[in-house]
Amino acid sequence: NSNRQDRDKETNVQVLLRCRPLSDDEQKSNVPKVISCNEHKREVTVMQNLANKQVDRVFTFDKVFGPKAQQRSIYDQAIAPIVNEVLDGFNCTVFAYGQTGTGKTYTMEGGMRNKGGDLPAEAGVIPRAVRQIFDTLEAQNADYSIKVTFSELYNEEITDLLTPEDNSRSSEDKQKKPISLMEDGKGCVVVRGLEEEAVYTVNEIYALLERGAAKRRTADTLLNKRSSRSHSIFSITVHVKEATLGDEEVIKCGKLNLVDLAGSENIIRSGVREGRAREAGEINKSLLTLGRVINALVEHSAHIPYRDSKLTRLLRDSLGGKTKTCIIATISPTAHCLEETLSTLDYACRAK
Ligand code: ADP
Ligand code: MG
Repeated sequence: NSNRQDRDKETNVQVLLRCRPLSDDEQKSNVPKVISCNEHKREVTVMQNLANKQVDRVFTFDKVFGPKAQQRSIYDQAIAPIVNEVLDGFNCTVFAYGQTGTGKTYTMEGGMRNKGGDLPAEAGVIPRAVRQIFDTLEAQNADYSIKVTFSELYNEEITDLLTPEDNSRSSEDKQKKPISLMEDGKGCVVVRGLEEEAVYTVNEIYALLERGAAKRRTADTLLNKRSSRSHSIFSITVHVKEATLGDEEVIKCGKLNLVDLAGSENIIRSGVREGRAREAGEINKSLLTLGRVINALVEHSAHIPYRDSKLTRLLRDSLGGKTKTCIIATISPTAHCLEETLSTLDYACRAK
């Protein structure tokens, strides 16, 4: 379809919609469904009964994945081309956006690995991207190096998910290293104080990922459902030696950011109790600013408000320009999520 291609060239922002299946419990208790997906027409229909009248709303996206869509098919159709861009030396970002419980983490992480190290069918975007990067570079016999960071943004503060918990340190040492954000003058974002691990094998990355994901889960239990209010950012930077000219090496560098955003319910639920007010404000800030930045990019605005939130400052060198951005909006098919689902669909549609 040539219209699609023209548009893709224009925007470099792709918006996908994924609807999760009913859980076993939901199926058992026969919860009503209000969503139907037409993958072929790239449409999602929200079926609403208002004042005894059936009112349907239809939303169109670049791609639609219904409840039966497999992790692999989403990856092959939507993410693999983005990873190829990264290997060609571009910076790219994939976001999972949606209400808590709709499958953001399942889509990004899923099952990480089997015992033998192969990808399980439930492996999500992160383990598959890692695998594609290593497999491609190995097949090309490339001279490459790979570095990863895994961090969490909570209350506009960055936490490293890769620093090991070290109980032997004194409480003074244990105080968090401050992590600060800067730009290097060439438009690249530099995060000071964030552990950058050089990795040499797929399994090393999987071990790091498991460590980071476990740390996130621990924080989750310590602070009730923290992960639904924080953004996690996994970044993988690839340097590939292209040639040697005299004593100069020509290096191609690309970066892929895979972002599991805070639950979108935080955006509207701002009528909060004490203590939570600042938090809700800060989550809103990053999610709202991200929406505005993407809008501005899609509309080719002269001013892109990167500076308005830490998330967009952190991703500044990977949003806009020649970079590719993919938003995977996730929804639940159930009637009781209807309100949040509509706001996710609206947010995602505005990003197109
Ligand atoms: P979120 O990160 O958006 O809060 P999760 O990824 O934790 O949501 O998903 C909530 C639950 O639903 C998890 O138990 C997850 O395994 C399951 N789930 C989500 N999406 C799917 C899917 N497409 N297929 C099967 N199970 C899914
Ligand atoms: Mg999650």
